[in-house]
Amino acid sequence: MRIIVCIKQVPGTNEVKMDPETNTIIRENVPAIINPFDTYAIEEAVRIKERRGGEVIGITMGIPAAKEMLKEAISLRIDKGVLLTDRKFAGADTLATSYTLSKGIEKIGEFDLIICGKQATDGDTAQVGSSMARTLGIPYATDISKIIDIKEDKIHCLKITDDGYEEIEIKLPALITVVKEINMPRLPSIKTMKIAQKSEIEVLTLNDTDADEKRTGLKGSPTQVRKTFVPVHEVSNEMIEGTTEEKAIKLSEILLKLKGKVK
Ligand SMILES: Cc1cc2nc3c(=O)[nH]c(=O)nc-3n(C[C@H](O)[C@H](O)[C@H](O)COP(=O)(O)OP(=O)(O)OC[C@H]3O[C@@H](n4cnc5c(N)ncnc54)[C@H](O)[C@@H]3O)c2cc1C
Repeated sequence: MRIIVCIKQVPGTNEVKMDPETNTIIRENVPAIINPFDTYAIEEAVRIKERRGGEVIGITMGIPAAKEMLKEAISLRIDKGVLLTDRKFAGADTLATSYTLSKGIEKIGEFDLIICGKQATDGDTAQVGSSMARTLGIPYATDISKIIDIKEDKIHCLKITDDGYEEIEIKLPALITVVKEINMPRLPSIKTMKIAQKSEIEVLTLNDTDADEKRTGLKGSPTQVRKTFVPVHEVSNEMIEGTTEEKAIKLSEILLKLKGKVK
């Protein structure tokens, strides 16, 4: 089985800061990590390979330094890393990102399954997986919490829905996005770290793919960020004094006032 895992490098902090001038994420001086959801995608791909044999290839679109992240993914037991990097890919929105990744995947060649994380912890849109499936013309399912079985031509899995779970079967080749309930990722071992250190990452630029330059990077990004801001949560406290009866009356008055506001 040939499995491709999409791995994104994200800032290793919960406090993503935005540049107010350009409305883009400030990435300078912020440590970069593998998008946490993608570690579950990596682990699941490796488990399938361990059961059924084959190869796991990790792909990322990012800056040249993302090579190190792909090496880390090799220490997490994927077989090979492919980095899509080019100045022309910069400033991509989700549409241009998924198009560029799809073109990179076409370059890699035939595959049975693509696994993505549920979402990236910086962009947070959860759009890239499904958009890529659409570009590649393959079936997909999001929010997979368990792979029940995988055969040559189909995958049987459990999908989280708003109301619970749904069992689904998809024809391969296909794409799935996975949630953290799917597994507990293993840590690297000394042996896999040594393999990663010695590994070579394949680098693809725009000219190495069949991508149409007009559909990549800022040029290929119809989304325009008009404004970014941190929502302000106003919290105020009021102590209610008095006897239990007085407190209950005061509380009901406050609640009635609030009800009026809600109207
Ligand atoms: C107008 C605009 C300008 C932007 N400019 C920039 C910019 O200059 N620099 C910048 O870094 N970001 C920029 N972004 C953010 C960038 O578009 C998104 O981070 C990117 O498109 C991925 O979307 P997401 O983070 O929401 O991923 P999601 O859709 O939440 O990710 C889901 C899954 O898709 C896969 N995935 C997503 N992105 C990648 C990737 N790059 N490589 C491999 N797998 C991936 C992963 O498996 C991930 O778990 C910009 C966004 C907009 C709207």
